[in-house]
Amino acid sequence: MANHIEEAKSGRASCRTCKKTIAKGELRLGIEAANAFGDTPSMQWHHLACAAGKLPAELQEALDAFPGDVADRAALDKTMADAIASGHAKPAGLPYTDRAPTGRAKCMGCGEPIAKDSYRVAVERELEVGATMTTGAGYLHPACVAAHLETKGGDKAELAANLRTNSRIPEADLERVILELENA
Ligand SMILES: [Zn+2]
Ligand SMILES: [Zn+2]
Repeated sequence: MANHIEEAKSGRASCRTCKKTIAKGELRLGIEAANAFGDTPSMQWHHLACAAGKLPAELQEALDAFPGDVADRAALDKTMADAIASGHAKPAGLPYTDRAPTGRAKCMGCGEPIAKDSYRVAVERELEVGATMTTGAGYLHPACVAAHLETKGGDKAELAANLRTNSRIPEADLERVILELENA
């Protein structure tokens, strides 16, 4: 079952965004989440108003496919537009580009901090946790991406395509980031 909107069948599920209960009969957004322990994906539920701020692209897609009426649609549209414009909406996966929420992360390329609210590129990297290797997000200035990819044997065109798929930021900003990394 793909991402979709439906009436809550019971009042037992809680919203993944605000952690509060979703009332029976209330419309909710279901996001298909991969299950690490089996091949049946499970559904994660969100209030529509919560999803509008956190998962605007997923909610938009589900709204387009939903045949029924949605109360407060204008308010949802505004929240989704604001969330995309902020540059802080949740991406669909790695790699992605978004605005740095803090100024604490350092660039894996040049080692300098990435300024708060400036665009960064997040890529998958291997992390050593104790004796085991795991993967997590590593961050780069857009201008530092090309040099980093060269050391990893990565491909700029492939990265750009993935950034377009996964990022949830304004189109013009996304193209500017991609231009910056391609021309570096
Ligand atoms: Zn909620
Ligand atoms: Zn850098």
